[in-house]
Amino acid sequence: MNIVGPRMGARFEVVQDLRPLFPYLNATRPEAKYSSNPDRIQFVFEEILCTLYSSEIIAAAFPDEDSVYLFGDRLLEYLNEVYEKQETIQPDYETIGRLSPIDIYQLLPKTNCRKCGQESCLAFAAFLSKGQATTSECPDFSKPIAQKAVYPIFDRDGNLASTVELNISKEQNNLSGPGDLLTEREVEVLRLLASGSSNPEIAATLSISQHTVKSHVTHIYDKLGVNDRATAAVWASLNNVL
Ligand code: SF4
Repeated sequence: MNIVGPRMGARFEVVQDLRPLFPYLNATRPEAKYSSNPDRIQFVFEEILCTLYSSEIIAAAFPDEDSVYLFGDRLLEYLNEVYEKQETIQPDYETIGRLSPIDIYQLLPKTNCRKCGQESCLAFAAFLSKGQATTSECPDFSKPIAQKAVYPIFDRDGNLASTVELNISKEQNNLSGPGDLLTEREVEVLRLLASGSSNPEIAATLSISQHTVKSHVTHIYDKLGVNDRATAAVWASLNNVL
């Protein structure tokens, strides 16, 4: 993740192949640009432009680091929803050929620093458009990773179907409270969990699905480095989440 003036771009690594979801995303997002060679799909999600590749997502621009985490959570929730509804969606396999350099340029830092070996960000976007470069060649999108989170994807029966791993570099690791580590929604889930609520009760209180609660709980465990509710509750108590 990098800071671009007052704005940030983010690069998320994804463990499993996202490509099977692309036709379903293409069918449900009228503004989506689904392209081939390489396969990728670009759309605006909650006012953030993002491009999904087989194993990574790049997105821009964010006002601050918290909004990157929030975006990651919400995008994952959305991908889970589309995954769960696949049988009710008529997939759209139509592609538009390649994304144009301008489509890709919008996601780049636009500093023209030349660290990628190209004369400008636009030139680099042209290589990306042709599949002749990868986003990892732009150092502003590939700084060392300090924060790693593994998100589960559940099938409609609640069984673990796959996982998504988000790698988010943090400029600062001086966390001063739960809000620095967890998203607002995760703090809400943790507070309820720590007070003894079950997953169905948390889902009912927050008006979200039990699958989403499971996803939040697993994500909270991963971020806190704990393995069970009791330890998470202790962490919540020690960090004034209750
Ligand atoms: S490395 Fe290339 S794409 Fe990245 S900011 Fe610099 S010129 Fe732009």
